[in-house]
Parts: sequence; structure tokens; C-alpha cells
Amino acid sequence: MKWNILCYHTVDPEQADVFLRQLRWFRETEGYKFQPFQKAFMSRSLGGHGKIMTVTFDDGDWTASAVAQKVLDNEGIHAMLYLTPDYVLQKKCYQAQIVRPSLNWDELGRWIEAGHEIGSHTNTHINPLQCEINTFIDELEQSRSIIQTRLGITPHHFAYPWGQHNEQTLQWFHGQSYWKSAALVQGRFNRAPTDPFLLRRNVMSADWDLQAMHRVVRGRIARWVYQGKASIFRMNSKERISC
Ligand SMILES: [Zn+2]
Repeated sequence: MKWNILCYHTVDPEQADVFLRQLRWFRETEGYKFQPFQKAFMSRSLGGHGKIMTVTFDDGDWTASAVAQKVLDNEGIHAMLYLTPDYVLQKKCYQAQIVRPSLNWDELGRWIEAGHEIGSHTNTHINPLQCEINTFIDELEQSRSIIQTRLGITPHHFAYPWGQHNEQTLQWFHGQSYWKSAALVQGRFNRAPTDPFLLRRNVMSADWDLQAMHRVVRGRIARWVYQGKASIFRMNSKERISC
């Protein structure tokens, strides 16, 4: 089984049509079957030759609910949102250093009611490599606690802010049993042997044309994006940029 996880951040209203065309292109032209994260995660070790795709969103930008969810619901696609709870509390989200509105708890409730999933992206979008491991663990616990209190669900899946991780964070995940997976913002496909705490994702933009989409399925765009952002990844996390 080839499991391709897409990582979006925003879908602005004028991008809704392109976002829809991207999803349909993956399904109708490339032969991917969309599956919810948990279902694909549980079946990833079964082997086989299927092409499975899962849509994920990071952070909690307002457009994940107001724009993307409408498209997803119409297409019958269930997505995972890796939420930064502090963004919701502050009513602010950050994309490429631009402050945007976050979605709110009511919208998150409707996201869950529609069958979509919620994961953790730490509580404050802290950079795992710029804090002590105990601070990182506290951030995970805070995010779990707030999501549970506000939304009544317990998240078991995680995405590293900026995809940042090291041997220490990986070792910690392997030594605990609550969190089931951790996702990166680079890589191509996941197969049965892929480490569940190093899940690969293809970073997507909802305005990419079909030429760019061809490159996604062949792995080039993902690497270009990652390399292009390499310098951004080294920025101080207090500057709060996307991913
Ligand atoms: Zn992020």
C-alpha cells in the first residue's frame, strides 16, 4: 500500500475551485482512494498495492472550516486537522508571518460532527528543537487536555511544527504509548515499514496547477518546497510562520 498524506494550511475562498480540482485529479486521474487518517493509519501495515490518500491541515486557519470543509463534505472526503489550541484561544493563526483569523470552537465542533478528525500540533506551535524535551512533552499534554476539554475528544495523532524533530523526540515517542503517530512536512509516500513517528507528508498549496500536481505525485515538489523552506525552518519559532 502506498499512503500519500497531503499537508495543507489554508484554502482561501478564491482557491476553492482549484482545491476541488486537485482532489478530483488525485482521485479520478491518479487513482487514489481517499481515506480518513485513522482508517488509513490502521490499515497501512496490511500491505497490498492500493493507492491511499489522506488530506490533512495544520495549525487551524479559519479557511479550513469556512472554505475547505465545504469542498471536503461535498466530495465525501474526511480530513485530519492538526490543531494548535493556543491559536484558537488567541483567535489568531499565522501563515508566512501574516496574522490571520483562526477557526473557533463552534466551527471545530462542526468539523468533528461532519466526521473529520483532530490531531495535535503542540499547544503553541513550539519548535521541538528549540525547547527542552520536558517543555515539548508539556506542550503535547496541554494540547491534549484543551482539545479534550473543549471538544470532548482525545487526539492520538500529532504533527511536528515545521516538521522539526530529532533523535530525542523520536526516542521519547517510541517510549510512550499514548501518541500513535507523528507527521513530518517532508517526504513522499508511506508504506508498511514507515516509522509511525516519522510519517511523510507532501506539503500542498491550494493554488497549484496541474503541472505542479504532477510533480507532487512524482516527489519533486515536496523536496523543492522543503529545500525552499530550509532557511525558514531555522528561523526562531517566535516569528511564527507556517508549517
Ligand atoms: Zn504548523
